[in-house]
Amino acid sequence: MFFPITLPGAMPFSRAPSDWNLMQFSGLCQCNETSLHFQSARAGRRCGNGQTDLKTGKHPPDSILLQCESLVYVGQRNKDKGAKPVMDSIESLIAGYRAFRAGTYRQNEERYRALAARRQRPRALIIACCDSRTDPAMVFNSDPGELFVVRNVANLVPPYEPDSHYHHGTSAALEFGVKALEIKDIIVMGHAACGGIEAIYDDCCGKPASGDFIPSWISLIEPVARQVLEKHGELDRHTVLRKLEQEAVVASLDRLRSFPFIKEREDAGQLRLHGWFYGIGTGLLSIYEPEVGRFRDITD
Ligand SMILES: [Zn+2]
Repeated sequence: MFFPITLPGAMPFSRAPSDWNLMQFSGLCQCNETSLHFQSARAGRRCGNGQTDLKTGKHPPDSILLQCESLVYVGQRNKDKGAKPVMDSIESLIAGYRAFRAGTYRQNEERYRALAARRQRPRALIIACCDSRTDPAMVFNSDPGELFVVRNVANLVPPYEPDSHYHHGTSAALEFGVKALEIKDIIVMGHAACGGIEAIYDDCCGKPASGDFIPSWISLIEPVARQVLEKHGELDRHTVLRKLEQEAVVASLDRLRSFPFIKEREDAGQLRLHGWFYGIGTGLLSIYEPEVGRFRDITD
């Protein structure tokens, strides 16, 4: 028995059919096909261009890997709409890796080999949050080699403290990116619904953060949190959190300038600092304008 699934022609698949659990996808469907017909363990196709490169991979029963030209689609029919995906997180990652190897990597193999053959030359250094919903490569539609990304909890910049005995992961990345890679643009990218920012907000409101490392790390932004609460404490929680998320970006920009090798280059016009903010739910990017002290949305 075949299960018909209608797919958008030349668009990436952004969602699974309603009764399927999408495990991974990659690339674009470049043929004119608008529907694929397949069954568990076997796949068939109807395609206007006459090619027959639709294949099944070695996957557990009832799950399949479909490969149609540049399209790679791993799915699993979900008989019970409320059921959990059968693949666990590791299996899903391996399936994603297989889809990457068969799709994106295969289509760009020469480019990947060229990237490995020379030194990296990223266009920008981005300090982003660890949050799994705010991947800079996704937001900026970037290819491998384009972005040098430092991620930490709440996208914070620590102070310049070369004499302290702490391990400075973010500072080391800044030093390498600016001095060795000679990157000309540093972007601090904050985001909406940041758990790290919420933690310092709660901490300042009498609900102390817990853990061996998190309280100390988020305390970097405590003075800013107290200022925001003092100024806007009467506003609702969501509004105050948004202000704090954005003020934290501005504070990190200021703190970047405490690094002499950054300040010198910025003063000499060799390096630019940017404060950006990404709204997870809206998909909107806002850019900090220091002249007016506000974030401005970048619309379509
Ligand atoms: Zn965050």
